[in-house]
Parts: sequence; C-alpha cells; structure tokens
Amino acid sequence: MDFALTEEQRLLAQTVETFATRELNQDLTERDAAGTFPAQAWRKCAGIGLTGLTVPEEYGGAGADAVTTMAAMEALGYGCRDNGLIFSLNAHLWAGTMPIVRYGTEQQRQHYLPQCCDGSLILAHAATEPGAGSDALSLTTTATRKGEGWLLNGSKTFVTNAPVAGALVVFAATDPAAKFAGLSAFLVDANTPGLRVGRPIGTMGLRTAPIAEVFFEDCPVSPEGLLGAPGAGMALFNSTMQTERALILASAVGTLRRNLERCIDHARARRQYGRPIGAFQAVAHRLVEMKLRLETARLLLYRLGWLLDHGQPAELDVCLVKLHISEAFVQSGLDAITIHGGYGYTAEYEVERDLRDAIGSRLYSGTSDIQRNIAASLLGL
Ligand SMILES: Cc1cc2nc3c(=O)[nH]c(=O)nc-3n(C[C@H](O)[C@H](O)[C@H](O)COP(=O)(O)OP(=O)(O)OC[C@H]3O[C@@H](n4cnc5c(N)ncnc54)[C@H](O)[C@@H]3O)c2cc1C
Repeated sequence: MDFALTEEQRLLAQTVETFATRELNQDLTERDAAGTFPAQAWRKCAGIGLTGLTVPEEYGGAGADAVTTMAAMEALGYGCRDNGLIFSLNAHLWAGTMPIVRYGTEQQRQHYLPQCCDGSLILAHAATEPGAGSDALSLTTTATRKGEGWLLNGSKTFVTNAPVAGALVVFAATDPAAKFAGLSAFLVDANTPGLRVGRPIGTMGLRTAPIAEVFFEDCPVSPEGLLGAPGAGMALFNSTMQTERALILASAVGTLRRNLERCIDHARARRQYGRPIGAFQAVAHRLVEMKLRLETARLLLYRLGWLLDHGQPAELDVCLVKLHISEAFVQSGLDAITIHGGYGYTAEYEVERDLRDAIGSRLYSGTSDIQRNIAASLLGL
C-alpha cells in the first residue's frame, strides 16, 4: 500500500489550502454567532471545483477518486476555519450529488449535476424524521401513487442545507407493507408546491450550515423525480451513507492538523511560572496525544481511500474512520481549549468553535454508538 500522494494530488491539496486560507475565513466569528450561510464563499468553492469534486468530468465535475478527494478535503479543513461551510459542502456532495451520479437516469444527471458543480444548485438529503433517527429506515413519510407520479406526505428533520437547497433527495415509503423493500428515493425541487421548509434549527456548532425541518403535504412528484428503481430506497440510502461516512470527516483531519500546530505555538509562547507552558509535562503530553490522534486519523482515512480506489471491501473501515475521526475531533477540541486555558474558552481565540463544531460529528451520519454497533456486527458479534 502506497500512502504517498501523487504530484498532482499534492498540487491540488496545496492549491485548496492556499485558496481556503485566503478566501473562506472572512467575518467568521460574526457569521457563526448570527448563523449565516456564507453564500459568497460557496460560490468561491464552486469556482475552484469543490462543489463537484467527485462528479464525473462529463457533467462538469472534477471526477476525483477517493484519495484525491480526501487530500482536497483535508486541505480544505486545514485552510478553512468555517466547519459549517465545509459541512454544507459535505452534505451537498456525498448525500446530494453522489446518489444522482450512482442512481440517476441520464436525464437526471444532465439536468442536475452541471448546476451542482457550478454552484448554482445546492442539494440536501432528507431521510431523518422526528420518529426515525438512528433507525432511519423506519421512516413514515409516504409516496402514494397519483396518476403516473406520486404524492409525498410527511415530514423530515435535521435536513442540512434545506433553507438554501434548490433540490432535495427525499426518502419515502412507496409500499409501507413491504417495510424496507418498500422504500424509494425521490429528487424533489425545493419550489414544488406542497413542500415547505421550516425555520432554520439553531444548533450548538456548525452554525453557518443551515439546517431545517421539511414538510410535505400532497407534494407532487413526477415519474422523472424517482431516483433509482421503486423499492431501491434502502440500497440507495445504505450506499449513500457508506460514501458519506467515508468522506465526511476528511476535512476534520485538516482541522486536527491546524489545531495541533496552533496549540504547539501557544504552548511555546505562553509562559507561566517563568517557563513556556509546553515545558510542563501535563501540557506536553496532551499535545502528544493530539499528535497521535491526528496521525491515526490520517492513516485510517487514507488507508480507506486506498481500499476504495482499489475496489476492496471496506465496510468495517468506513465505520472505523467515522468513529475514530469524530471521537478524535471532539477529544482534541477539548484538549485545545485546555491548553489555551481561559483564552480557549473565549470566542475571540476561535478554539471553542472547533469543539462545538466537532461534537456534531459524533451524531450526524450515524452516531458513534451506531458505528460501534455496525462494526461489532461486522466482527461477527
Ligand atoms: C448537525 C447534524 C446534521 C444532520 N444532517 C442531516 C441531514 O442532512 N439529513 C438527514 O436526513 N439527517 C441529518 N441529521 C440527522 C442525523 O442523521 C441523526 O441525528 C442521527 O442519525 C441520530 O438520530 P437522532 O438524532 O434521532 O438520535 P436517536 O436515534 O434518538 O439517538 C439518541 C441516542 O440513542 C443512541 N441510540 C439509538 N439507537 C441505538 C442503538 N441501536 N444502539 C445504541 N445506541 C443507540 C444514539 O447513539 C444516541 O446517543 C443531522 C444531524 C445533525 C446533528
């Protein structure tokens, strides 16, 4: 297994890192406090190809493989301190564009993907419901036949990007009696009558990523809106989750790297009792633990990338990546605050925001408990 990035991948990562550092961090403390989606930054991301990173070139994307995608996202996480913006991008890419790439008809691909790549269309993924969270496939939203098409009824919650999305991937039961085999996915334009987006949900972190409930009341979907075959909803959901869990925390590896560097700088510069605080074993050991978490996160991530790019089975590795990086993200976020002392607790130092943003990673895309459950069953338990 070769972990070295190619010259092209290194160049891409460098370009993304420089771009993100320079272009994506303006007014972040204010935007975070106000919970404002950075529309201009989104367009800039589109300008360098991030909104279509894994979409095939024929539809306007970059057609990146897994390792290249991870390298670009790690660089983004290093340079861009706006984890909310990155989270919106993650939702758009892995749970929005990729189901269309994999399951869309040629007509759906031609219609949606070029707009997704050029940044003019933002996608959202609506699976979770008030009564169906970890147990997402127990959803109760229905799609009943009306003529050639369907009528959607029900509600979704925690839909990332819903307030800014132009279209949503929606999961509904087309045949409730068939349970999991009766689930289907639909591509629904946000301006369809009968679709209503609720007020943005206030969150602890990732505050620049808009999240909302979505309500469907006799919302019509034409036959062209079906994504994949009728009854293929579960397969589509599971494959989307695999992709999302594999890639959604690649940026966090960049954030871990940036935070470690920042904490080392602080530990060298801050003096107490006549010495830099890094000279105290308690602080130095904390930094070593942060380094260890960063390196194990990177190794697991790129090993997974290698497996995916070589067509190897990687179900367990996907769980381990999601589980390990999210837990590392939270623990290193706590450590960063501890190393900065009282200053780490202030908004001005921007360390507390990373911790608030990190906590969501243990919840979305399947909680850490659920990753452990899946991993345990893959170990034969
Ligand atoms: C920031 C954020 C963004 C999100 N974006 C989206 C989105 O774009 N689209 C979307 O559809 N959803 C989205 N979600 C929803 C997310 O997928 C769910 O929050 C998640 O799956 C957990 O479901 P829940 O919140 O209902 O918690 P619950 O399922 O109620 O879980 C509550 C607690 O019980 C534990 N638990 C539940 N079942 C088990 C079990 N079998 N074994 C052990 N422990 C268990 C959980 O681990 C958790 O600790 C988002 C969530 C967050 C926080």
